[in-house]
Amino acid sequence: MENLDQLYQEIILDHYKSPRNKADLSYLPDDQLHENPSCGDTIKLELVFDENDCISSVKFDGHGCAISTASASLMSERLMGRTRDEADGLMKSFIGVMRGELETDALAEWGDLAALGGVSQFPLRVKCATLPWHALKAELDKDLT
Ligand code: ZN
Repeated sequence: MENLDQLYQEIILDHYKSPRNKADLSYLPDDQLHENPSCGDTIKLELVFDENDCISSVKFDGHGCAISTASASLMSERLMGRTRDEADGLMKSFIGVMRGELETDALAEWGDLAALGGVSQFPLRVKCATLPWHALKAELDKDLT
């Protein structure tokens, strides 16, 4: 189990140091900025859907701790090519695990994202991990109208 924890820490650090799909989104309006005041994390998220309503581009921008940055980076990889419904399901499952409503086993098939499962045991860090997913929820809700 210790080796697994070590592997998970390495995954999180790798995504923190080299975030995937991080871009300058300063052109997005400030009302798209999501914040986690308890830690100081901020994020903006941009989704592009193709003609089949599949996600063809995910970009995020912001400043954050290792957990929030890794969560955004891992989420961006997971979302590529997903349909709107699939993205919505992933968002609900991830937030459910972080809130302790679902077992962390629910992330077992999620590849590197499983590395964040242990965060659910640290209430102060849960908001860091879920911040990008709340930004995702806002984007999904917005595009439905
Ligand atoms: Zn944080």
